[in-house]
Amino acid sequence: MRSRRKRLKIKNILLLLAILLVIAIIIFLLTREKKVYMTNVTNMNIDSVKEELNKYNLDISVKYEYDDNIEKGNIVSQSIPEETEIKEGDKLSLVVSRGKLDLKKLKEDGINELGKVPVMMYHGIVDKKSSETAYTGGNVDRDGYNRTTEAFRKDLDFYYENGYRMIKLTDYINGNIDVPYGKSPIVLTFDDGNVNNIKVTGLDDSGNIIIDKNSAVGILEEYKKKYPDFGVTAIFFIHSGLFQQPEYDEKIMKWLVANGYEIGNHTLGHNNLNNTSTSETQKVVGGMYQKLESILGDKYAKIIALPYGNPTSNKHANYPYVVSGEYDGFKYETLGALRVGWEPEVSSYNKDFNPLYIKRCRAYDNNGKEFDIEMVFRMLKNTRYVSDGEVDRIVTSLSNKNLMNPDIKKEIVYYE
Ligand SMILES: [Zn+2]
Repeated sequence: MRSRRKRLKIKNILLLLAILLVIAIIIFLLTREKKVYMTNVTNMNIDSVKEELNKYNLDISVKYEYDDNIEKGNIVSQSIPEETEIKEGDKLSLVVSRGKLDLKKLKEDGINELGKVPVMMYHGIVDKKSSETAYTGGNVDRDGYNRTTEAFRKDLDFYYENGYRMIKLTDYINGNIDVPYGKSPIVLTFDDGNVNNIKVTGLDDSGNIIIDKNSAVGILEEYKKKYPDFGVTAIFFIHSGLFQQPEYDEKIMKWLVANGYEIGNHTLGHNNLNNTSTSETQKVVGGMYQKLESILGDKYAKIIALPYGNPTSNKHANYPYVVSGEYDGFKYETLGALRVGWEPEVSSYNKDFNPLYIKRCRAYDNNGKEFDIEMVFRMLKNTRYVSDGEVDRIVTSLSNKNLMNPDIKKEIVYYE
């Protein structure tokens, strides 16, 4: 009996020890499971790796470099080697591939971001066929300031088919030129706020403006659908008459800004700034900015289209007041000023680019002469800006090096 009880006791102790051992093993395994080890992330996409590593709260920094073998957006190298234990807050730096820097291809494709940019000057768009006018091509008047709807549609097709993509004037001025690889930027401008720029025929049930499909904006909206990658936009330079539709003007202006267009200053009274006093200059320039601000808040472009292109010299006594001044306690500063001009302007990365004295091209027909559309685009064939598709990098030929603005803060790549 005694020895049987003793055996039972030993058996129980052994059983207990076995249970304890199992528990110890489980605890060991559980705590061991909590350790995390770095895996090999090279050649994996940076976005998915970041998402995966997110739960470990690492301090991740990313650097981009060109790489001939690793696909763009994939990881080239990692600072923490594979199988190293990682803890919260550990610093991990990753090098991500920008793809191959193929200088030969950039050259072959004619990439040149020091090339020229056409800033097209339009006024009115008149709903007529070009054959119905008494003037050359799509001109509605002798000088071609007004263009037929037929000609305007043709212009847009021509720009698109020749690889031009629209950008905002503000983006051009700020050196924020963002068009796809191999494409060229173009800017459309409209002066004077003609009714036919954006003719409103009424309001719909929700109180939104109904835009005449044959006004300039009606046609631009049509081209937004026709070519979704056209980047459709334009800037409208207006005076105190706004769009000459008092009932709708404020709604029109807000609609334009909300739909990707810009509105700029054409002075209060379409004034000839060759002949105004300096105080009058500040009144008509500053007063118009003030009017734009009263309707749009800060959502207008601080850009002026000089009426009649005057003053024709930026040495004129009024020029400093085109640039900045004060009227009625309202201080203003102009970021860009447009002339009537005749030819394409240099790239905003060119050291000679002066945003306060930008040349425009007249959008008119003259049988391929005197800087009409045909002539301007013929001139652009070998001189135009051709994008590398990356907004933070500038690519051009080494022969253009002396033209580069030294203050540009972007990465610059030259090919020979
Ligand atoms: Zn004008």
